[in-house]
Amino acid sequence: MSGSKAYAALIEFVQQTSLLSSASALLSWDQETGMPPGGGDARARQLALLGRLQHERQTDPRMADWLQACAADETLAADPVAAANVRELQRDHARATKLPGALVAALAETESRAQQAWAEARTRSDFAAFAPWLQKLLHLHQQKADCLRAPTQSRWDALADLFEPGLTAAALHRWFLPLRARLVELRQRLAAGTRPADGIQQVALPQPAQEAFVRAVIGAMGFDFQRGRLDRSAHPFCTGTLGDVRLTTRFHDALVLDALGSTMHEAGHGLYEQGLPEAHAGTPLAEACSLGIHESQSRFWENHVGRSRAFWHWCQPLLQRHFGAAAAAFSTDDLWRTANIVEPSLIRVEADEATYDLHVMIRCELEVALLAGDLPVGDLPAAWNRAYADYLGVQVPDDRRGCLQDVHWSCGLFGYFPTYTLGNLYAAQFAAALQRDLPVDDLVARGEFAPLRSWLQAHVHAHGRRYPPAELCVRATGSPLSAEPFLAYLDRKFTAVYQVR
Ligand code: ZN
Repeated sequence: MSGSKAYAALIEFVQQTSLLSSASALLSWDQETGMPPGGGDARARQLALLGRLQHERQTDPRMADWLQACAADETLAADPVAAANVRELQRDHARATKLPGALVAALAETESRAQQAWAEARTRSDFAAFAPWLQKLLHLHQQKADCLRAPTQSRWDALADLFEPGLTAAALHRWFLPLRARLVELRQRLAAGTRPADGIQQVALPQPAQEAFVRAVIGAMGFDFQRGRLDRSAHPFCTGTLGDVRLTTRFHDALVLDALGSTMHEAGHGLYEQGLPEAHAGTPLAEACSLGIHESQSRFWENHVGRSRAFWHWCQPLLQRHFGAAAAAFSTDDLWRTANIVEPSLIRVEADEATYDLHVMIRCELEVALLAGDLPVGDLPAAWNRAYADYLGVQVPDDRRGCLQDVHWSCGLFGYFPTYTLGNLYAAQFAAALQRDLPVDDLVARGEFAPLRSWLQAHVHAHGRRYPPAELCVRATGSPLSAEPFLAYLDRKFTAVYQVR
């Protein structure tokens, strides 16, 4: 078969596979937002079947033949779109076929049972009940890493590469080293400063009005409600496909800034999905580059825009329009300062911008040691608690608020946590580049978000998976990823908020 015929067959085949995965995503969205409890059994069977069909297609022997014919074709190699699609599909196919079926089945079953065991263990704060499951999961993931890894690659690197192509523990260490020292130093400096009042967070506001408010904000950001929806779920998330992006958020009676932050975060993910190039739908060129890059888009809107003084200049009158007298007492500066309270805490998902990455670092260091066999599972709680005292200056009272707090390891997500911190680093580096190109503060203060969105669309969204994340970063910002823009941003903002030097 000629290269061009093979490429056409390959693209048609993967576009259909992508329809299956988008159908799965929609069913999962429905499961979290609208499905009645009685639908659970049927939904599990629907999702299992779709998952099996996708895996069969990803490992279909015809894929190998088409990919081989494409790789041998010089015309395709000279076409940047075809070359990138072939490279990424080769990567996906190799990954899917390297794992023996028995291991895939053992992982799926163990992860499903371990998740239940984790949920029970967390409720009772009983690490000993989860420890055997963690041991089993580590053992299986060591085997998985051995199937996937190149001869010189470490197990952790092989697993992290699934989420952030090209990421290594060594590179992570280079970013983490300055980050750790300076975040700990910043935390100590801010402790001596003036803590902002949490005023607006204490005010009970009707949830329908909160919803109208956050819809107005993400509408102004440019989230396209003709090609997306916003609903409620217990844990906010974003899923969907081009033309149909589903966001969820949650509301409390008070804590309006939490609802705003979560919604802007998910809308940042949603703008990325809506900004992927339609012409390449169903192929890698219309898929997100990596989880770290995806997270950079949500953090950019949530933090660099939503927690800036300029944003509150625009948003304070909007808040008053939606909540009237209840919001009238809070000035632009009050709201900006409240949005930036720093409080070292036990729980990652509740952490502020200045301490969040310390939570991530602790998990990364521990999982590298667990996978390498350097940290016995039984020693995890003590190691966790020591790290929290060291990095964050907090005492962990029990495992529920300690090493049992996150679902990730019970789902087999080893090597996933760093993508959260990479998201923060990429977001700060994109924000710095944007500031060189545009008068960002002036635009944000006027609520003119379109130029920001267009910049991100042109420099990040439009490329899909055309470039690996490290290369995308250099192309968009002119330099390789560094922790410096993030540290400079935190320092600038928090010394102003806390009025310290
Ligand atoms: Zn996110």
